[in-house]
Amino acid sequence: MLLDLDDTLYPEREFARGGFRAAAAVLAERLSRSADELFESLWHAFERGVRGSIFDTVLAELNVLYDDALIAELVRAYRSHEPQLRLFEDADRLLELLWPRYGIGLLTDGIAEMQRRKVKSLGLQHRVEAIVYSDDFGREHWKPSPIPYLELLRKMLVDPSRAVYVGDNPKKDFIGARRLGLQTIRIRRPDTEHGHLDAQPGFESDHEITSLDLLPDWLAANERSERHAA
Ligand SMILES: [Mg+2]
Repeated sequence: MLLDLDDTLYPEREFARGGFRAAAAVLAERLSRSADELFESLWHAFERGVRGSIFDTVLAELNVLYDDALIAELVRAYRSHEPQLRLFEDADRLLELLWPRYGIGLLTDGIAEMQRRKVKSLGLQHRVEAIVYSDDFGREHWKPSPIPYLELLRKMLVDPSRAVYVGDNPKKDFIGARRLGLQTIRIRRPDTEHGHLDAQPGFESDHEITSLDLLPDWLAANERSERHAA
C-alpha cells in the first residue's frame, strides 16, 4: 500500500498554520508589530483562499512597503519551521492495523527538506517500510511523474499490479499511478485543500472513500476476489 502524505495522513492546514506563525514572528520583529495580529492577517488570507502570493497580499493590505528579499525571508521562515503535527486519527489507526501485514510505503511531493521535517514530526519514518520524496529526483519528477512511484515500488519489491495508491488530490495523485497499473483510492475529507474538488475526466481514482477506516475491509474483500479469480 502506497500512501500520499499531505491531507491524506495529516491535515496540511496545520503545517500552514505553523508556517504562518513562523513567518509572523519574523515580520513582527521587522515591523515592530504584534506577531499575533500579523499571524491573524495571514491566516485570514489563507482561510479566504489566497494561495501562492499570500505574503504579498497581506503586506499590501497592511500598507507595508516590501521587497523581494523580505518575501523570500518569509517564505524561508514558513518552509523551514519545525512543524508539530499529528496524524488524522483514522490514519493512525490504519498504520497500527495494517503494519506489518501489508507493506506500507510513503510517496510525497513538495520541497524534500520540508517534507522530511513533516515525516519526522509525525514519526512516520518508524511506521512505514519505505519513503520516497519525489523532489529528490528534481521538480520535474513530482507527481504525476511515474519515476517516484516506480522507485517506491522498487524499494518495496512490489509489482505495480499488486499495489494500491491512496491519495487526496485528483489533480495529480491518480493519473500517473493508474498509468503504471496501480489501483487508486481517493480519500476525500472535508476541510482539506482538495476535498471539494471533483476530478476532471481522466484524472479520477478507481475508488473513493471518506475515511481510512474503510481500507482494511476493502483490502480484505479485494484479496478474496483475487483468490476467486485465481
Ligand atoms: Mg496530498
